Amino acid sequence: MKPLNSVISACPPSGIRRFFDIAAQRADVISLGVGEPDFVTPWRVREAGIYALEHGATTYTSNAGLPRLRELICTELDTRYGARFDHETECVITAGVSEGLDLTLRVLLEPGEEVIVPEPCYVAYQPCVSFAGGTPVPVATHAEDGFRLRVEDLEAAVTERTKAILIGSPANPTGAVQTREDLTALVALAERRDLYLISDEIYDRLTYTGTHTCLSSLPGARERTVLLGGFSKAHAMTGWRVGYLCAPRPIAELCLRMHQYTMLCAPHVSQLAAVEAFAADDDVAEMVADYDRRRRVFVKGLREIGLDCPEPGGAFYAFPSIRSSGLDSETFAERLLHSHGVAVVPGNVFGAPGEGHVRCSYATALPLLEEALERMARFLRDC
Ligand code: PLP
Repeated sequence: MKPLNSVISACPPSGIRRFFDIAAQRADVISLGVGEPDFVTPWRVREAGIYALEHGATTYTSNAGLPRLRELICTELDTRYGARFDHETECVITAGVSEGLDLTLRVLLEPGEEVIVPEPCYVAYQPCVSFAGGTPVPVATHAEDGFRLRVEDLEAAVTERTKAILIGSPANPTGAVQTREDLTALVALAERRDLYLISDEIYDRLTYTGTHTCLSSLPGARERTVLLGGFSKAHAMTGWRVGYLCAPRPIAELCLRMHQYTMLCAPHVSQLAAVEAFAADDDVAEMVADYDRRRRVFVKGLREIGLDCPEPGGAFYAFPSIRSSGLDSETFAERLLHSHGVAVVPGNVFGAPGEGHVRCSYATALPLLEEALERMARFLRDC
C-alpha cells in the first residue's frame, strides 16, 4: 500500500489523552488530567437546546452561523473589551476554537511558512500549524517570570519565512495571563516585522488576578489579528462544539470559504443554545467564583507540600514545578497515577520548557482536590 500522509503520520497522539484513558479505567483515580469543566452546561442553556430540538431546529444554518449569535458575539466583544467587528462580514461561527484555529492557519499559511509558538502551549497548536503546511517555531517562556511573553525572545525567532505568532492568554497549561504592556509590545513587533497574530482567547472570562486584554482591541492589532473564542470553557459547553473567529474581512471571508466546504455550519442546536448563553452571566460568574476558590486552596496546598507553583491568573490549571521530587515529568505523572491514583499531565507534552512541571486541572470538586493534595503529599514523602 502507498504510504499515508507523512505530516500526519509523524504527529504523535496527544500526551493528555494517554493519561486520561488510564485514569478512566480505574474507579479510585482522582483525575486532574482533562481540561474540561466539571460543571454541566447551565440549565437555561440546556433548556434552550431542548426547546430548539423540540421546535425542529435540525437543519443547516447559514454558513457563517446564525446572524443573531454573531451579533451578540460582536456586541459583547465591543462592550467588554472595545474590540469592534462587523457581525456580517468579520465573524464566523465555528465548531469550537479547534475548527477556528485550523481554518485560520490554513488561510494564513503557504507551505513552509513559519509560525512562532510560545511554549509551554496548548497541545494542538503545533500539530495544527504542521497540518496547515507550516512550520511551528517554538520559543520558550519561563516559570520564573510567570511565563510572560518576552518580546525580545519572540523577535529573535523571526525569519523571512515567519508569517504569524500564535498565542493563548489566559493560557493552557500554565494559567498565565499576559499583561496589556507585553501584548502591546507584541503588537509593535508584529507591525515592525509585518506578521499576523492569532489570539486564542477561549479562557477570556476565566481570569482571577487581573483583567483580560483582548488582543484585537489594542491599537494597531485589529487589522492583523485573528481572535478565536468560544463557549466550551466559561459556559461549560465543551460537547456542544460551538465557537467563533473574528478577523478583518479578507481573512474572515477566506475562513468562511473553507468552513463552507469543510464544515458547512456549526451545529444548529448548539448555536441556539449559545444564543441563550448570553443570558447566563450569573451562572458564569458563579462558576468563575468557584474555580477561584478551588484555585486558591489548590495552589496554596501545592506550595505547602513543597511543589513550587507560579500564580495561575487565569484558565483552570496549576502548573507546579516538580523538581523537588527529583523526577522528570513523565516519571512523576506515571508513578503518581499508578501508586497514589492521581492523574496529572506531564509538562513536557506542552513543549520542552514544560519539563520539570505537571499540569493539574482544578476544574474538580474541592473535596477531591483536597484528597488529591493529601495523596500527592504522601507520594512526595515516598519519593
Ligand atoms: N484552546 C485552548 C487553549 C484549549 O485549552 C482548548 C481545549 O482544551 C481549546 C482551544 C479547544 O476549544 P474548543 O472546545 O472550543 O474547540
